[in-house]
Amino acid sequence: MQQHSGNLFIVSAPSGAGKSSLINALLKTHADMQVSVSHTTRAPRPGEVDGVHYHFISVEQFKKLIADNEFLEWAEVFGNYYGTSRSAIINNLRQGIDVFLDIDWQGARQIRQQAPGTLGIFILPPSMAALEQRLLQRGQDSEQVIAKRMAQAQSEMQHADEYEYLIINDDFNQALSELAHIVLSQRNSLQSQQSRHQTLMQQLLAKPAK
Ligand code: 5GP
Repeated sequence: MQQHSGNLFIVSAPSGAGKSSLINALLKTHADMQVSVSHTTRAPRPGEVDGVHYHFISVEQFKKLIADNEFLEWAEVFGNYYGTSRSAIINNLRQGIDVFLDIDWQGARQIRQQAPGTLGIFILPPSMAALEQRLLQRGQDSEQVIAKRMAQAQSEMQHADEYEYLIINDDFNQALSELAHIVLSQRNSLQSQQSRHQTLMQQLLAKPAK
């Protein structure tokens, strides 16, 4: 993928680690950051809105999007398909907007191949017990589903060492501050600043005429 002025971040975590809450809290105070809305074939959970949390589509529609090369990455996660739309992301990056991909480790691997500079952040719970507690508190899934998600969480966490940064979400505000630091320092990296502020850099670095 070409270099754009916005930065791309991958954020992965097992379900219940607090990933969505952290990303949403960061976005609230930064107008120039967006989270990519994925396509999925899974059914909406109570409270989830089509086009906001996901684009909910059928397996047939998903397969058509794969065939049309519309996805930057896609994967089968826990028996459902999930994918990231290419065009929405590129449009945002071109406008200088930083984009967060809330995707699993399989998607992260595909993104790293296409955009090697992408920073990956993995969010961990402070313990297995805390993770189970959070899944129970959500009250959205049956006991059976929670037991399955706990096992899936362990398999997702096996891939934490493929990411550049780890955040342990014990205290929410602390974790949010760590996420903000990682994101803002990437924004201020030489490469990012040079592509974001091309005109300014040219003006400041132009040699005066003799
Ligand atoms: P959930 O069904 O709980 O919303 O998400 C299940 C898993 O799918 C999470 O780990 C989430 O990060 C991952 N996921 C969501 N959207 C995408 C996507 O577009 N691509 C990939 N590879 N994973 C995704």
